[in-house]
Amino acid sequence: MPQKIVIIGGGVGGTIVANVTARALGSEDAQITLIDATGQHIYMPGWLYLPFNTAEGIELSRPERSLLHHRVQLLIGVVESVEPAERSVRVRRVLAGGESVSEVIPYDYLVLATGARLAPQDLPGLVEGAGQWHDFYSLEGALRLRSALSEFEGGRIVLAIGGIPYRCPPAPLEFVFLLDEWLTKRNIRSRSEIQYLYPLPRVFPIETVAELATPILDERGIKYETFFNTESVDTERKVVTSLEGSEIPYDLLVVVPPHRGVAAIEASGLTDPQGWIPTERTTLEVKGQTGIYAIGDATDLPVSKSGSAAHFEAKVVARRIIAAIRGEEPSDQSDTYTGEVMCFLETGHNQASQLVFDYEHPPRPPRPSLYYHMEKQLFNRAYWYIVPQGLV
Ligand SMILES: Cc1cc2nc3c(=O)[nH]c(=O)nc-3n(C[C@H](O)[C@H](O)[C@H](O)COP(=O)(O)OP(=O)(O)OC[C@H]3O[C@@H](n4cnc5c(N)ncnc54)[C@H](O)[C@@H]3O)c2cc1C
Repeated sequence: MPQKIVIIGGGVGGTIVANVTARALGSEDAQITLIDATGQHIYMPGWLYLPFNTAEGIELSRPERSLLHHRVQLLIGVVESVEPAERSVRVRRVLAGGESVSEVIPYDYLVLATGARLAPQDLPGLVEGAGQWHDFYSLEGALRLRSALSEFEGGRIVLAIGGIPYRCPPAPLEFVFLLDEWLTKRNIRSRSEIQYLYPLPRVFPIETVAELATPILDERGIKYETFFNTESVDTERKVVTSLEGSEIPYDLLVVVPPHRGVAAIEASGLTDPQGWIPTERTTLEVKGQTGIYAIGDATDLPVSKSGSAAHFEAKVVARRIIAAIRGEEPSDQSDTYTGEVMCFLETGHNQASQLVFDYEHPPRPPRPSLYYHMEKQLFNRAYWYIVPQGLV
């Protein structure tokens, strides 16, 4: 009997697990099902460039089906709950005739790759002031920010973090660096102020990266305030306040909204109070469960919520499932996640640095250069041909 591998989430992590297992296992060994709520695969890193109109040539989404191995069954539907005691998942699907049905899908191996969701309700003022603040953490947000920036003629732009953890820790720094470049090119930099508000005692969680970024912020005249844990946003008075007692006025506010894990996994009792899944740091098994793995943004792992981490983790989970189905022992080296992450840090003006690190080794980012900027731009375009397929 083929083993049933069920993957929830067709983002970068879930898609790689599906494709790598499908290539390695025949249909007599495994039946692979990927369930995704929308059936669209989103490339979120492209959203960073949208506000500055520099996303040309970067595809932001593709149908998930077009990225999957032909032996992976794609179910487009919303997972409502996971029932570990029954080893099944409940999915709500809309049929061709418009009828909505709830189905139970059994599994032998389950991979939770459900990502994160934005939770503006967790920061007072965001829901009340909807439409009066901006973000680039959603397609709609990034497009609306693009039109706000196109009308901006000078003033103070403030970037605040709504809560930790959030997706792609370098993105807010990248945003203010790219904003500096954009305002300079439009000849309104001298009439503008950029202020970066960060909750930690330095401008980035990892010290070596903060040491690289701080002098660049200084050189570019980008103001920053650390120990700024955003407490509320008042879109009437146009101020953002911190738990530490600071109040910062703005003309245009960009917020990284608070993040949480997805509701269905939380409601299934598989998460901590913020919705993140307690995950073994090397085997990626969900703590206290058998045959269930978690990867990517959905986990509580102490690594960046990044596509890169999801990518490395997906390879490990796929290899562990393949080994288990073949009755082999997982290898200590290639089937263990060591906290690997590799991402870029755009610093504006056609320069970038690169962050490579793992649980034991912090990054030693090189001086920003055109080389890494070009590499990142190349990656943004090559992604669709190599990453979801698990070819790298
Ligand atoms: C502006 C921005 C820039 C970024 N830049 C980078 C970068 O340069 N480098 C980098 O490595 N990372 C970057 N990231 C982060 C990266 O995009 C995410 O970390 C990555 O997409 C996480 O992958 P994932 O597979 O864990 O989850 P996701 O890609 O979020 O996929 C989760 C999937 O699960 C599905 N799903 C959720 N709930 C359900 C449900 N109940 N039922 C069925 N399906 C469900 C969703 O539809 C989705 O398709 C960036 C993010 C942003 C916002």
